[in-house]
Amino acid sequence: MYLRTEESSGSERRPISEPYSIERRNFEPAYLRLFESGELRQRLESALGELRSCRLCPRDCGVNRLKNRGGVCKTGRYAIVSSHFAHFGEEDCLRGTRGSGAIFFSWCNLRCVFCQNYDISRLGEGRTTLPGELAGMMLHLQEVGCHNINFVTPEHVVPQILEALLLAIERGLRLPLVYNTGAYDSLESIKLMEGVIDIYMPDFKLWNAEMALRYLKAPNYPEAARRAIVEMHRQVGPLVFDENGLALRGLLVRHLVMPGFIEETRQILTWIAQQLRPHTYVNLMDQYFPAGKVTDTDYTEINRRITSKEYQLVLEAARAVGLHRLDGRAPAKHLAVCQ
Ligand code: SF4
Repeated sequence: MYLRTEESSGSERRPISEPYSIERRNFEPAYLRLFESGELRQRLESALGELRSCRLCPRDCGVNRLKNRGGVCKTGRYAIVSSHFAHFGEEDCLRGTRGSGAIFFSWCNLRCVFCQNYDISRLGEGRTTLPGELAGMMLHLQEVGCHNINFVTPEHVVPQILEALLLAIERGLRLPLVYNTGAYDSLESIKLMEGVIDIYMPDFKLWNAEMALRYLKAPNYPEAARRAIVEMHRQVGPLVFDENGLALRGLLVRHLVMPGFIEETRQILTWIAQQLRPHTYVNLMDQYFPAGKVTDTDYTEINRRITSKEYQLVLEAARAVGLHRLDGRAPAKHLAVCQ
């Protein structure tokens, strides 16, 4: 169902009806059209060509990954996968009753000092996975009933995903695709995914360059994330659901609330409301815990969980800027008592 939306302009049309729903029977994954027209194959060829001097993410390493050289992401020609399974820890609109079909890619292009998946992102736990095998994982997740395929940390493996996707579609894949990213994506990569990805789910982590340098080791992160998220929104519009409340297409912005970083959160929320519009679906995540390089002696200022007062403040900040589609899960019980 393709209806013109209030923010559509010119010939631009987005799949949306009020209130943010489409009927399941009218939905088909975005990639089928590209596959049938042959454009998906052309897209794959361009993407693989990018590996020759890799600038697929804002790190701009320029290494030849076709010769298996890795840059910051330490990933060569083929993706390394840590695990794939039906994930019940994601948002209700993704996990539904049968889980979100998560595929966790190893390594990462960010260097978050507080990384909660350190073994996967920094130690590279996982194994090299050829395209046919990666396609098989997608199909397995479809067979066990997952509602979507959820690519976790895909920023550095866009060509590898396209390569496997082509095979998976030929073998019957029909689930919506979720691009679950830390938002350190290049514009070029996101454009390669136009018409391929149904649901973009960037975690917009930090607003200021100094903070991004200290905690993510990427001072250009905020600028890159803003650029990439605007493009994601342009491609898919606001998040829409089927009649059972499952997300089918659109943008879902995550933000991990950090201890003492309320001002960062406030700026991010203001930007979302102003730049992407207040209808943006936002998940303010409360589950931060000290991990990675955060210890009693290093990065001590974030060596605690957030308080319930802090979480309350960010909820109020979201409402104050007009955001009205906040993910509805109750705050976790682990929140420290209000201080
Ligand atoms: S994808 Fe990897 S090799 Fe390519 S620019 Fe990013 S970090 Fe460097």
